[in-house]
Amino acid sequence: MSALIELDGVRKTYRSGSLEVEALRGIDVRIDEGEYVAVIGPSGSGKSTLMNLLGCLDLPTEGRYVLAGEDTSSLDEAALAAIRNRRIGFVFQQFHLLPSMTAWRNVELPLVYAGLPRPERRERAIAALARVGLGDRVDHRPGELSGGQQQRVAVARALVTEPALLLADEPTGNLDSGSTRDVLELLDELHGSGRTIVLITHEPDVAARARRNLVIDDGVITVDRLTGAGASA
Ligand code: ADP
Ligand code: MG
Repeated sequence: MSALIELDGVRKTYRSGSLEVEALRGIDVRIDEGEYVAVIGPSGSGKSTLMNLLGCLDLPTEGRYVLAGEDTSSLDEAALAAIRNRRIGFVFQQFHLLPSMTAWRNVELPLVYAGLPRPERRERAIAALARVGLGDRVDHRPGELSGGQQQRVAVARALVTEPALLLADEPTGNLDSGSTRDVLELLDELHGSGRTIVLITHEPDVAARARRNLVIDDGVITVDRLTGAGASA
């Protein structure tokens, strides 16, 4: 397996005025293509900071982040935006769907930014919705869908650009147990079809569905272990 993600001595310090917070204090980790990794840890331990760095939404204060062979530390904002659009799909706790737009219009948005022509955008958006089991809901607006269905629309939007990496920050945090099961089954399927997934969660049963768990505490990785099917494979 080849490395998709390599973090090398990564540190992140937030500064506001005279106050400094060391959110990440030396992270070294490699994640290969096709892995399904959950990052767990208490509130304030640095999970979202790590997610922002992995998603090229922010840059490390120190250290190196190599994504798919490309060292991101030397890139400018335009190059980082291009990487976010081409290589990374994001799923958030709050779905972040546009309420006035139908499901397929929400899903096509990353393709609008990528500059694809409209007929191809529509075709790919509808295919992505079919893939998450919502082929019969393409013209529904978010308000006409359940929480679990809305999160599946968000997953379809994350996948429509065929990104190398799917990043999810507490994707089941706003869902009831039935919808949580739905979304976790979908992530299992995506992993089964070779997608690389990094999921952030504070729920142990969600983390147990991944194949590898990274425990982060006070800005450092304290545990790196195989779990569930990963441990017995
Ligand atoms: P988690 O997602 O695990 O709850 P975060 O990565 O959000 O943790 O935060 C890690 C630490 O960094 C916390 O102490 C938090 O208060 C601090 N922090 C996060 N974002 C900022 C910011 N933009 N400015 C200053 N401090 C921040
Ligand atoms: Mg967080």
